[in-house]
Amino acid sequence: MGKVSIGLRGWRFDEADVFDANGAIKSLAEMPPEPRRRVSRLTAILGNACDVCMVLEDDERHCNVASAVYGEPMHEVLLCAEHEPDFFYWFRELGGEEYAGSTALSDTFLEWIADGGRAPDDYGEIEHVDSEPDALPDAAVAGGIPSLEAELEEMDEGEREALDVDLGDLDT
Ligand SMILES: [Zn+2]
Repeated sequence: MGKVSIGLRGWRFDEADVFDANGAIKSLAEMPPEPRRRVSRLTAILGNACDVCMVLEDDERHCNVASAVYGEPMHEVLLCAEHEPDFFYWFRELGGEEYAGSTALSDTFLEWIADGGRAPDDYGEIEHVDSEPDALPDAAVAGGIPSLEAELEEMDEGEREALDVDLGDLDT
């Protein structure tokens, strides 16, 4: 079993953790806690705008929809394809890696962006992320993960707490 992304590049899951034997996405209750936190967070952030665009643009209508996510759930960084190289540059070349696994990653990165930080123009050409053939399985549709959204809607707060599912700004 390989690693897959769901809906957004970046966060990777063991296929066995998130898909059943038929290739359908599992219910959240069937997932181990760590992937469950990320998958449930995905239901809230799929389709959201790129965080770098949000810092740079005054008008949300000029922002690109994010295609990648990095960092910890609730403190993640959402990135469009245009701004993903800026994150890689900061992470790999400027010491951002020390924030891996830290909730400070997104704020620290976005402060660097707000201060004018950018990757060199040719940096994004080094490793184009679309080369991952398994990055977007069929279950990941741009419009969301309907089966999980329905499952979350049907849960009451106590059930969500029992699963340690933190929904953040899920707008249901
Ligand atoms: Zn962007």
